[in-house]
This record gives sequence, C-alpha cells and structure tokens, in this order.
Amino acid sequence: MTAQSNAARPASLGPKIGETVERFELEKAWLVDPVSGREGPGEIVVVDGVLESVNWLEGDEAAGVTAAGVVVAPGFFDMHAHFREPGFEDAETVATGSAAAAHGGFTTVALMPNTQPALDEPGVLARIRAASAAGTSPVEVLAYGAVSAGRAGEQLSAMGELADAGVLGYSDDGAPVRTAKLLRSALLYAGMLGLPIVDHAEDLELTAGAEAHEGYVASVMGLAGWPSAGEVQAVSRDLSVLADALADEPRARLHLTHVSTAAALDLVRAAKKAGLPVTCDVTPHHLAFTDEWIAGSRRWAWEAIGADGKALDAWADGALTAGPYDTALRVNPPLSTAEDAAACLAALVDGTADAVATDHAPHTVVDKEVEFGKASNGISGIETALGILLALVDAGKLPLARAVAALTTGPAAVCAASDATRGTSAARPRGLVEGAAADLVVFDRSDGWVVTPESLLSKGKNSPLLGRELPGRVLLTIAGGRLAYEDPDADDSAN
Ligand SMILES: [Zn+2]
Repeated sequence: MTAQSNAARPASLGPKIGETVERFELEKAWLVDPVSGREGPGEIVVVDGVLESVNWLEGDEAAGVTAAGVVVAPGFFDMHAHFREPGFEDAETVATGSAAAAHGGFTTVALMPNTQPALDEPGVLARIRAASAAGTSPVEVLAYGAVSAGRAGEQLSAMGELADAGVLGYSDDGAPVRTAKLLRSALLYAGMLGLPIVDHAEDLELTAGAEAHEGYVASVMGLAGWPSAGEVQAVSRDLSVLADALADEPRARLHLTHVSTAAALDLVRAAKKAGLPVTCDVTPHHLAFTDEWIAGSRRWAWEAIGADGKALDAWADGALTAGPYDTALRVNPPLSTAEDAAACLAALVDGTADAVATDHAPHTVVDKEVEFGKASNGISGIETALGILLALVDAGKLPLARAVAALTTGPAAVCAASDATRGTSAARPRGLVEGAAADLVVFDRSDGWVVTPESLLSKGKNSPLLGRELPGRVLLTIAGGRLAYEDPDADDSAN
C-alpha cells in the first residue's frame, strides 16, 4: 500500500467560528495525548462536536506518519494572559484576545485581574463573562481575582465572594503581593477556599527605575539595571511565608508566575524537593529571547550560549542584525542572559516549571512608541507561544510531548485542583478522550507562518518577532466541540 504522509492539510470544515463542528476526520496524523502519555500515528473523528474516535495506528497503516508533519494535541490552556477588558479595550478585548488565543491553539485562558476596575469583586468577573458570551468565540475565558482590593496592596479583596463566583485563584499580577503580611493572610484565606495565590515575584525596591536586566548589555546600552535579586529576593520571601502559613492552613498553595532567573528557579526546585506546595511557570519569551535582543540580536537564546554554558557576546559575534531599543522587548521581568534562559529550559524539562504561560500582554502603539525605559511592559505572545516551543523542539532542546504537556496538563493541574473550577474546561482532563467534547488543536510542523501585524489577530502588535517565520502553522482549533480557529488558507475544495 502507498503510505500517505501526514503533511497533507485537512479540508476546510465549513462551519463559522463558534458553530458546532458536525463532522471532521483526520487520517494519518501524529497524535499527542499528555494524559495517557502516548504519542504516535493515529486518526481522529469528530461528530457533532464530540471526539467520537481516537484510533492509534500501527504497522503498515502508520507508515510515513511522523511527528514532523500534521500533529493533533488537546487544546492548550494559557494560565496567564491579559485581555485588557474592562478598561483598556484599545489594547485588547475579550473578543480579540479570544480570537488570538484560538490562533495560538489555546482553547482555555486564565485572565489576570489588572483590569480597570480591577477584578476584585464578582461584578467585574460578570462583565468579562458577559463579553465572552456576547462574542462568537468558543474559547473558555476564566479569570483570577485580585489578592488586594483595587490591587492596592493594602487590604484583601472580596476573596470569599470571588471564590463563590468561580475565580481560579488570586493574583495582584502586574505587581507582587505587596507585603509579606498581606501574602500570609492571602495564603491562609485562599488555602481555606481551596485556591492558589499566583504571585508575580518582584522586590519593588530593588527594581525601582530599572529598564533592563542588570549586566553587560544594560551597561553597554546605557539602561538602568534590574538586578536578578529583584526576583530571587521576592521568591525567597514568598517561599518562607508559604512554609510558615502551612502550619496554620495545610491547604495553602503558591504559584509563582513568569519565573525568569536561574537562582529563583533553583529556590523553587529546592522548595518542591522539600515538599512545599509550590508550582511555577515560565514564559516563551524568557525561554527564547535574551537581553542582547535589545541591542539588536535576533538569535534564539539557545543559540547564544557556548558549549561551556556561558553566554556568547553578540557584539563580538556580529550577531546584531536588527535595530536597537525595540520597545516590544521591554517586559517584566526583563529579558535576561542566555544562561538564565537555559535555566528556564532546564526547569521546563525537569518539571520544576509545571507550565508554560504566555503572559500575553498586548499594548497599543502609543504605549510602546516611546523611549525604551518609558515603554509599557509586555509582549503580545499568545499567538507565538507554540512557534517558540516548536523552535525549541526543532533544535532538539525540548521533547514535543513535554512542550504539549506544559501547555495542557501542566497548567490544568495547577488550576483545576479546586472546587471553583468544577464544570469549567479547566477541570476537563486535557487529553484526547473519546466521547468527550472535542477540544483540540491541529498544527502542521512541516509548514510555518510569518509573524506580521496582519497575521496577529490580537490588537497588540507588540511582538519582537514581527517579520520572522515561526515553525508550526495552526490549521484548526476546536474548543468544546465548536470551531475556534481555522487557517484561512485551508483547502476548501472539499466543500
Ligand atoms: Zn507579572
């Protein structure tokens, strides 16, 4: 028999965004199921929005089907994103953010509460849910409540009411939980409610006025330095407060988001080993970009490190190919060295990092078209996360199955442990489960796409990857049985 390789594209589905997928069959694809831990050649059939069958292929039938072609994985879960609504709809809305998420392969997102007003009481969550329900996207929009009222760092928010309303946890993201005392109270109360505190670990005294990671690049570029201790000190505080709070409330749980430095990841690794209930995530941008990008380098972080594990010198290597001071690179925590990026990767591979979260932070042009140090922090990253992880897979640095797990079962395990998430897609097993609502992404590793302002569905065009081709074109995203995204270039000859 002739083996049909899995680089063939599926035909266009027909339905519009939000409509139930009546029938979709994919023959000879590479399936990745992070729940069973299985990956390999297979075929799937979706009928009336339900994943009717998952058929693993063997022998002759499997011939020619490789992980380098069309891949099917469970829909991704982004546990850290900013959709800016309410308050900053010029930068993003729930509708545009949801469209961008689906383009990135995400079917569930967890939004941070730094909206205006802040999500510190159930009314704001209701507004976000109403915005989601009013749109056509089937992407499930979940959210965290603020730790403190108005995110002001003084008094706790309406935590109990927020739990009843269904938040996933609490965070003052954009800023750290301001004091150790407030964090302790928050851990106790959230623990009682069965929810985690998600902290953006930053020592604001150490980072005041800082523009870029403190080191060689910042010195050469004349940018005020952000010392690694700005993160390490805060992680250390958080872990000691957690250890203390556990004595009073054994259900206290801490999640550290966007951890970016080797020393902070070492602290998390040691705390996990000691049995503390702490989890963490790393971002695609801290895995892939370094501070030398601010000087104009565009080589991946893993290409900027020598065999001795030491960062190379972009100036000496002639690696500066782009203009300096691209404000799309200003982010909190700041891009660091290739050594720190390698530590993020090592943490992802060894499980110290439970998840990859995008910290999708769209901004308007106005907020970014200023001096580097005055630009708003953040990268529009929900659409480029998969491509960055696949670049790591292509480079032989990250197993495909681990990349998929970090976008599915990893974040779900952090967010789904509580009663509040029951009934939401956060609580669904993120595997290829027969008989469940189809929730999956289909992407083609034999094809790429170029990141441009037009190809990004997010309102935020603040990506340092503009003009660059990324591997792994998303062909189709189905969320809860409904069409969430379809490649506009899909072959529609079948319809
Ligand atoms: Zn943050």
